Amino acid sequence: MADKAQRVRGTQDIFGEDAARFEHVVATFDRVRRLYGFRPVHVPVFEFTEVFARSIGETTDIVSKEMYSFPDRGGESLTLRPEFTAGIARAYMANGWQQHAPLKLAAWGPLFRYERPQKGRYRQFHQLDAEVLGAAEPSADVEVIALASHVLGELGLGEKVVLQLNTVGDAATRAAWREALVGYFDRCRGELSDESRERLDKNPLRILDSKDERDRRFVADAPRIDDYLTADAGAFLDKVCTGLDAAGVTFERTPTLVRGLDYYRHTAFEFVTTHLGAQGTVIGGGRYDGLIEALGGPATPAVGWAGGIERLAMLIDAPAADSIDAAVVPMGEAAEVVAVEVLQRLRRAGVGAEQAWRGNMKKRMAKADSSGARIAIILGDDEIAAGEATLKDLTRGEQRRVPLDGLVEAVKG
Ligand code: ATP
Ligand code: MG
Repeated sequence: MADKAQRVRGTQDIFGEDAARFEHVVATFDRVRRLYGFRPVHVPVFEFTEVFARSIGETTDIVSKEMYSFPDRGGESLTLRPEFTAGIARAYMANGWQQHAPLKLAAWGPLFRYERPQKGRYRQFHQLDAEVLGAAEPSADVEVIALASHVLGELGLGEKVVLQLNTVGDAATRAAWREALVGYFDRCRGELSDESRERLDKNPLRILDSKDERDRRFVADAPRIDDYLTADAGAFLDKVCTGLDAAGVTFERTPTLVRGLDYYRHTAFEFVTTHLGAQGTVIGGGRYDGLIEALGGPATPAVGWAGGIERLAMLIDAPAADSIDAAVVPMGEAAEVVAVEVLQRLRRAGVGAEQAWRGNMKKRMAKADSSGARIAIILGDDEIAAGEATLKDLTRGEQRRVPLDGLVEAVKG
């Protein structure tokens, strides 16, 4: 067995400034999703393997090579979730959440994918996730994209991240476009990467996604979806674009942006940055009208996105470190008992307060100074005997005595 103190490859221990960045991303998401009426949801970290295999699709990298699957003690195959959408769709069906449709949901938490770890790519990573289930209207697409854009804006990333938007059309559009793509790539089959030759048979749209130079040369001139859009699909795209304009969300139309699976419809989008090297996609999403049917449920139109918390956390400016309002500095055993009582009174009143547990007066005062506290509350024998405390304003250096029973007000005031 490996050294027991060692992390499993691709996992992280998040602390200090990294933890502050992570928390800031989550707190911002949680604040903004409330403004849009997205309700919190928690789904299991593991599901029956079937849930992901069926909804994500056997031909995807995720299902074919990235899942953490294992038999449980009962012999069932379970999988650690590689994404949120499948579990949320399963929960929607299983719990009769159709009654709430259209249902706007927000989640965040850990995901697991067996990938090659590198900067911005881990085996246990975390996502923010937003979904609207039971809505076929382009307004729902506009809403989820506006939410994503708003979160990025609040994180100060408005300038660093660009929204790329495309459509994969409706079923008829997709079938016609797919045929055109197969015809086109079949003519250069011999010059494609091995992986794309395989995609040509199984999932030709994914060739457009290829990062391999051998494929990219041909992708540039591949048939464009715009030439195959049905009137309905074109009208849907127009409404999304008009809505985004009205919402003040800027985007670039990116005709090569695709979602490989058959149940994806209409809107596909990514928020990308040039600041993270190869791991440049921070948020990816789209409309997945056929997914719930693929899981055996009723036809349920839906749209959503997922964003990588670590990638967002790397991009933002470092948030201000947590700081405490008051540092309590007791001297002597009697004062230490009073200090505990004072600390709890302050905290219950909503004032952040700490005390150093050891050291002489000088050491404890130095600690109070470096803690970022605004006020030191000094409790010595004198103060205790008088039923008072000394309040020292650490920014101005002034100090005064206050009675213990008026302490909370004095600190807050
Ligand atoms: P990529 O192209 O980077 O592999 P993806 O298409 O696999 O991304 P999605 O499944 O759409 O990504 O996940 C949404 C977001 O989650 C990504 O845009 C990214 O920010 C983040 N993400 C995906 N995989 C990882 C990972 N292994 N480590 C960290 N973040 C990840
Ligand atoms: Mg990936």
